[in-house]
Amino acid sequence: MDRTRFSLGENDAPTTWYNLAADLPGAPLAPALNPKTHQPLTRAEMAHTMPEPLIEQELSAEREIEIPDAVRELYALWRPSPLFRARRLERALGTPARIYYKYEGGAPTGSHKPNTAIPQAYYNKLAGKTGLVTETGAGQWGSATALAASFFGMTAKVYMVKVSFEQKPYRRALMETYGARCTPSPSTETEVGRKILADDPDCPGSLGIATSEALEAFAQDPDLGYVLGSAANHVLLHQTVIGQEAIRQMELAEDYPDIVVGCSGGGSNLAGLSFPFLGERLRGGRDVRVIAVEPAACPTLTQGTIAYDYADTGRLGPLFRMHTLGHGFVPPAVHAGGLRAHGIGPLVSRCVEDGLMEARAVPQTECFEAGVRFARTEGIVPAPESTHAIRVAVDEALRCREEGTAKTILFGLSGHGHFDLAAYDRYFAGTLADDRPDEALLAAAADGIPLVGRG
Ligand SMILES: *Cc1c(COP(=O)(O)O)cnc(C)c1O
Repeated sequence: MDRTRFSLGENDAPTTWYNLAADLPGAPLAPALNPKTHQPLTRAEMAHTMPEPLIEQELSAEREIEIPDAVRELYALWRPSPLFRARRLERALGTPARIYYKYEGGAPTGSHKPNTAIPQAYYNKLAGKTGLVTETGAGQWGSATALAASFFGMTAKVYMVKVSFEQKPYRRALMETYGARCTPSPSTETEVGRKILADDPDCPGSLGIATSEALEAFAQDPDLGYVLGSAANHVLLHQTVIGQEAIRQMELAEDYPDIVVGCSGGGSNLAGLSFPFLGERLRGGRDVRVIAVEPAACPTLTQGTIAYDYADTGRLGPLFRMHTLGHGFVPPAVHAGGLRAHGIGPLVSRCVEDGLMEARAVPQTECFEAGVRFARTEGIVPAPESTHAIRVAVDEALRCREEGTAKTILFGLSGHGHFDLAAYDRYFAGTLADDRPDEALLAAAADGIPLVGRG
């Protein structure tokens, strides 16, 4: 029988995280800047929001960083995650390509996000914090935070964008099941929220607003730790367990990817899968193409500017040098809520700038089409975010069919779509729009990018 599943045992799990910064050619990554002084953020400033070990990881140039035992023990509840060869999809496409996917949906909350929520909760607990506070859009990050807090006996408080709170009651119920308190944002609990509601009682909320509320709640309670769902160097670092496992699983398959594909919001699952492969390549290993896939509705990597900009709409946090559409950019509503970010992790941005990664933007209906095809051949209903990676993997496999080449394609299946079936309903009903931001909207948002550290 042909093998379709490549599994590692608990004892084969990575014991360290992989830090791409150690292998990056050229200048070190541009530092984050203080939003007021525009000087590089100091460790003392970072210590306001992050425990010491996470600051260390954020700034580290060490290649390997040890994963604490307590974290490895929790990872072992669902890791190493499986890697599959998509033989039924290959046959349906009639492609000579070999397609593999690394599946993160087996995590308790159904996506890759607990890979970083758990270590962030752990280090905050060590630092004496008794609770966590954060924001969430579609709810995947809030769920992961709620899970991690419950593992460490901590409280969790999640500000969830109001439209998502109303559209996705089961994500909220999941967070509450883990013991978290979830509040629709804007809320009357914070000054920021009250101010916004006074101006607009029907405000649907945004990730920028929810972030501002979480930061305000954090600032007012010294017992709380604030945790980050994507983009930051330490978050990308934690996700590298994905790619390290995948390298060993590709060995079991006696194969190696020519192309690695991942969907890209803040860039964490893409980085988690691809950085260990890029590291091998940079250290003289085999060549590999990496493709970042984003929604056409939010074309950060394909149409953004590389500049210093704020990660948050409220301009409270530091400036990062990254691809950005402007911190005021509000993308059209698409169902891949996790991919609606105006900026991207600086390390991923740098990889695209240096030509280590390519970027592609795809409209959501084409993604759902690929997602449905995937579900009907491989059985797993993918998260709307993950369908972006599937779309490009399928396109590359179809190109192999045209060209008669047998490439090896590996993509990241970042999560399952069990909480997103309403989006599938809309796709089947034909009511999903393929909105793209027009030139005027992009130009107006780009105008808001501050003139810092340019030229
Ligand atoms: C959050 C999320 C994403 C996007 O975030 P990244 O940091 O870019 O990985 C993608 N897929 C799923 C399933 C998610 O939950």
